[in-house]
Amino acid sequence: MSRTASASPGLRRSRWLWQSGFFILFILAPVFNLFRYDLAAGHAWLLGFEWRLGMDDFLAGRIGAGEAAVNVLTRLFLPILAGAGIFLWSARRWGRLYCGWLCPHFSVVEAINGLMLRASGKPSLWEKEILPPWQADGRPRRHDARWWLLVLPTAVGFALCWAVVFLTYLLPPAEVYGNLLNNTLTPNQTRFIVAATIALSIEFLFARHLFCRYACAVGLFQSLVWMGNRDGMVVGFDRQRGSACNTCLPDRHSACDAVCPMRLNPRNIKRHMFTCTQCGQCLSACATVQQANPDGALLRWVSDDDARRNEAGFRPGKGEKA
Ligand code: SF4
Ligand code: SF4
Repeated sequence: MSRTASASPGLRRSRWLWQSGFFILFILAPVFNLFRYDLAAGHAWLLGFEWRLGMDDFLAGRIGAGEAAVNVLTRLFLPILAGAGIFLWSARRWGRLYCGWLCPHFSVVEAINGLMLRASGKPSLWEKEILPPWQADGRPRRHDARWWLLVLPTAVGFALCWAVVFLTYLLPPAEVYGNLLNNTLTPNQTRFIVAATIALSIEFLFARHLFCRYACAVGLFQSLVWMGNRDGMVVGFDRQRGSACNTCLPDRHSACDAVCPMRLNPRNIKRHMFTCTQCGQCLSACATVQQANPDGALLRWVSDDDARRNEAGFRPGKGEKA
């Protein structure tokens, strides 16, 4: 198998930097008018500029219907189509990179997974079995019920943060943060923040994977266009060297299966990896487990011909090594 990219030691760190940077951007974009819609003013902000459709001019009789239609086309539909086109083109080529490397929801998924894993040995309440008691680097994986004390506050904290940030996408951020700090939120603002915090807390605690798998349109469309491109980048498994998996974790456990945040089997073929977010955690785990192997890891990102060959490949059963 030729390499498209291997799991470098810095993979986890660079993904953490991308995720953190995008999470900060998600919070600050409304503050700096990079992207928001101001319900009170009736127009959007984009990259620091007011973004108007020109409908006020049409309603006031300053422009005709033809000019108004051109305005809507050029200021609304064409930018949306262009943005969606670029986004889907990149998803077709590289899969759900947005999900795994940028999406603020996926950052929450992984943070809460990590805490639940420390508390119970399972990354979610719906996981049937406790994960193997070893990490990819050979260290024991221990769990301690006291970590549950952090799970609920973290989920509610993230939910409250999201609820406030969502509100700043709709109302002037200075007003929202000012009211919050001075305890002068309006009744509607309070209702919005309380309702959104409750709904998001429930989602973060009980349904965060389900949302990514089945309910998020952004993820779903990325997966659909990616599945339609047999040359697109995918986690490939070097099945010719599959026997090396026998030296993975003790008791025939697999490091790659244990770390996947979407609970996939990373050695599987592409059509069973519909929700893969290209997070690369399985690649890092395999590279760690196989670091003494002169041939390197068995999992690597592949594309083009290698991706097609991988599609015709190995399909391990549950808990089975190659
Ligand atoms: S299969 Fe690998 S790259 Fe895909 S979501 Fe799972 S861990 Fe991430
Ligand atoms: S692919 Fe790598 S991480 Fe997965 S079972 Fe084989 S050796 Fe272990």
